[in-house]
Amino acid sequence: MGGAGIRLFKFAGITVYLHFTWFLIAAYQVQARLYLYQSPIWALYEYLGLFAMVLMHEFGHALACRSTGGYANRIVLWPLGGVAFVQPPRRPGAMLWSLAAGPLVNVALIPVLELLCLLSANAANPDAAQLFRMLRLVNIVLLIFNMLPVYPLDGGQILRALLWFPFGEIRSLQIASVIGLIGGAGLAALALFWRSIWTGVMAFFLISRAVAGWQQAKLLVRLEREGRYGDTAPVAPSVEQR
Ligand SMILES: [Zn+2]
Repeated sequence: MGGAGIRLFKFAGITVYLHFTWFLIAAYQVQARLYLYQSPIWALYEYLGLFAMVLMHEFGHALACRSTGGYANRIVLWPLGGVAFVQPPRRPGAMLWSLAAGPLVNVALIPVLELLCLLSANAANPDAAQLFRMLRLVNIVLLIFNMLPVYPLDGGQILRALLWFPFGEIRSLQIASVIGLIGGAGLAALALFWRSIWTGVMAFFLISRAVAGWQQAKLLVRLEREGRYGDTAPVAPSVEQR
């Protein structure tokens, strides 16, 4: 992935890359937001603000994962959002904390953005007030979407970690993958209904990751049967995105 992206910076052992396609979609998205503002530069600020929020969310995952002794050294920003490549230790508690920390960043941003909205409400520049209102809305939408219990969205992976406690590593992944498949199929139906390409791309991503989760569970079952379960770490790096 490093070859397809620009290295932006490194913080706390985590390197942030920007995918090349980001610029194409950014140009399109900024164009589409121009009507919201009196001065066009604020449409660009809004898009950059959105990505600052995505970046903070991904750092939440990556830093939490490292705090559990897990492996996380790369974040890639691409047009549909961010991806933190995290591999927490194979314990449900470590996985739960690594996954919950991302949405918790959005929860922490709620009062911050509320305050910024209040402070800018009577500002001389109406574009500033509009910017913070939009970012406040986007933060809530991202939080709700991420918390849908559809694997591999954060909510689905949190559900999986919670199911791990009573059902174990394999069963919890099987249950979460099936819920993910159903959720992905539902989103695909919505994409057809709305005739939305973006929703279709998202549905395709969810379904393919849910299938990968199911196959990973199958691999674990085979390792267990061969008596090799636990002595290897066949868990693929958990990729999450928005
Ligand atoms: Zn996340």
